[in-house]
Amino acid sequence: MEGEDRGAADHRFRGISDVLLDIEGTTCPVSFVADVLFPYASDHLGDYLQRHGHTAAVEKLLGEVEQAWQQDSDREARALREREGRAVISYLRLLIRQDRKLPALKELQGMIWREGYGRGELRVHLYDDVPPTLRHWHREGIRLSVYSSGSVSAQKLLYGHTDAGDLRPLFTAWFDTRTGPKTDVESYRRIAAALGGRPEQVLFISDSLPELTAAQEAGLRTVWCRREEATIPPQSNQEIDVITTLNLSSLDVTTS
Ligand SMILES: [Mg+2]
Repeated sequence: MEGEDRGAADHRFRGISDVLLDIEGTTCPVSFVADVLFPYASDHLGDYLQRHGHTAAVEKLLGEVEQAWQQDSDREARALREREGRAVISYLRLLIRQDRKLPALKELQGMIWREGYGRGELRVHLYDDVPPTLRHWHREGIRLSVYSSGSVSAQKLLYGHTDAGDLRPLFTAWFDTRTGPKTDVESYRRIAAALGGRPEQVLFISDSLPELTAAQEAGLRTVWCRREEATIPPQSNQEIDVITTLNLSSLDVTTS
């Protein structure tokens, strides 16, 4: 039977010591990154480089960007080079538009976002059901942790600047891909060990089925947070609990 058709009682998780949470698509809309963070970095790049372009840290990153541009075989990147010469900012904007993962760009974006959060110009809108549920679990003695592909420093910036306030004190541990890929069984074994609990006492919540499958294999309890239409359907024999929000009436988690 498909998880969605089962009763609300199946979303009761007892004996849980830890809830491990994905971010994008689970606690925060995926569109926040695409519609808010990326455009903010793109819009503030020129101003940021003007003010910080001569510091050693930024010069080093720009050197890496320049090198990547020289070696870039992308048609648009090459055309841009002929047109714009060495104006590295136009190449950076192209990378942002194409959502390319150059490490130097990620680092520059992180610096720009840090300023934006600090100035109060960037604020994270979490799904409405998330802050009250996290606060409830925290009060009930359930430990909360994050596992996201964004870096731990980016995770802390995000939870530090939500429209429900600074939620960082609710969390006890933060994991990113330095622990391992999110679809790798071993990553979840490492996280369970780091949390010091037995895997079956850890509940992992994510919108990604491949991630949930890996966590299940490592012995964690799992629930699929399906807020939007997922692109990957579950395997027909896969038993998975499904929720559409993190509100307490649809997901009852207790320590005993
Ligand atoms: Mg996700």
